[in-house]
Amino acid sequence: MSAAPSPAAPVYDRVALIGLGLIAGSMAHAMRAHGLAGEIVGHARSAETRAVAQELFCDRVTETAAEAVRGADLVVLCVPVGAMAGVAAEIGPHLAPGATVSDVGSVKQAVIAAVGPHLPQGVHFIPGHPLAGTEYSGPRAGFATLFENRWWLLTPEDGTDPAAVARLRRLLEAMGANVDEMEAKRHDLVLAVVSHAPHLIAYTMVGVADHLRRVTQEEVIKYSASGFRDFTRIAASDATMWRDVFLTNKEAVLDILGRFTEELFMLQRAIRMEDGEQLHAYFTRTRQIRRGIIEAGQDTSVPNFGRTTGAKGE
Ligand code: NAP
Repeated sequence: MSAAPSPAAPVYDRVALIGLGLIAGSMAHAMRAHGLAGEIVGHARSAETRAVAQELFCDRVTETAAEAVRGADLVVLCVPVGAMAGVAAEIGPHLAPGATVSDVGSVKQAVIAAVGPHLPQGVHFIPGHPLAGTEYSGPRAGFATLFENRWWLLTPEDGTDPAAVARLRRLLEAMGANVDEMEAKRHDLVLAVVSHAPHLIAYTMVGVADHLRRVTQEEVIKYSASGFRDFTRIAASDATMWRDVFLTNKEAVLDILGRFTEELFMLQRAIRMEDGEQLHAYFTRTRQIRRGIIEAGQDTSVPNFGRTTGAKGE
C-alpha cells in the first residue's frame, strides 16, 4: 500500500518526537508530507541534532524532553532501547491526560518494562516497532517514504483503549505502513529470527573477513560483490542501537543462535561427509522461503535486488 495523497486532516494536534534520528526524522517527513500532525515538536540529546532537526523537519525543538511532551496528544520515543527508561522517567510527570505514548524500539518486552512504570494513569501506552530502516543514522538520514509498504507492529497490552489504538493506526497507515498487532513476547522472538540474529551473523562474517584481509590483503574488498557486500551493509548499522537490541532481547536471540549453531554444524558435517543430497535438499527448502517473501511483496524479484551496478562477478 502506498501513502494516501496529501493533505489529509491532522490525526494529532501536537506530536512530540523524543530522539531525532533516522526513524523520528522519517516520521516527521512523512507526517509533514501528508499533513498528519498540527505541530511536530522534537527533542534530542545534543544541540547539534536539535539544530539539524529544526532545519529539516521539526516545527519546534526543545532543550528537554519534559518540555517537548507538554500538551502533546501523541508522544513517540525514538531513542535507542537502552535510553527509553531514562526518557520515560523524565517525561512521565509532564504528559497530558489522555495522551498516547508510543515508541519505535526494536525490542518490545524490555521497552514495556522500562517505560510502563513511569506513565501516569489516563495515558495510553501503545508500544510499536516499524520494520523499516537503513544502515544510516542521525537526523539527516530520514526520508518520507521509509515506511511505505513496510510493517509497523503494535504490541498494546490487553485492555488498551481501542479508540487510542485505532487513532495511532490511522496515523501509521497514512504514512504508508501496514499495521499489525502482536503480543510483545511473540514480537521479540519473531524479530530475533528475522532481524536480530541475521544482524549478529553479518557482524560476525565481516569480522571474520577482516581477520582474513590481513592475510589476503585487498581481495576480500575487491571481490565483495559476491554476497559479502550485503553483509558489510548490514554490519555498518548503528553500534549503539544494536548493542542495546542484543542486551535487551538476550533470551530470544540466544535461543535462535543456539538453533542456528546446530544447523550450521549439521551443514558443516554434510560438507565434510560430501553428502550432496542433504545439501541440495536444504538449499531447495531455503530457496522456497525466498520465493514466499517475494510473493508476499516484501522484496523484489529483480536480480541482485535491482542494482544496476556492481553485479555479482564484476
Ligand atoms: P538514530 O538515528 O541513531 O537516532 C537516535 C536519536 O536518539 C538521536 O537523535 C539521539 O540524539 C537520540 N538520543 C539518544 N539517547 C538519547 C537520550 N538519552 N535522550 C534524548 N535523545 C537521545 O537512531 P534510529 O535509527 O532512529 O533508532 C531509534 C530507535 O528506533 C531505536 O530504538 C531503534 O531500536 C529503533 N529502530 C531503528 C531502526 C533502524 O533500522 N535504524 C528500525 C526500526 C526501529 P543525539 O543525536 O543528540 O545523540
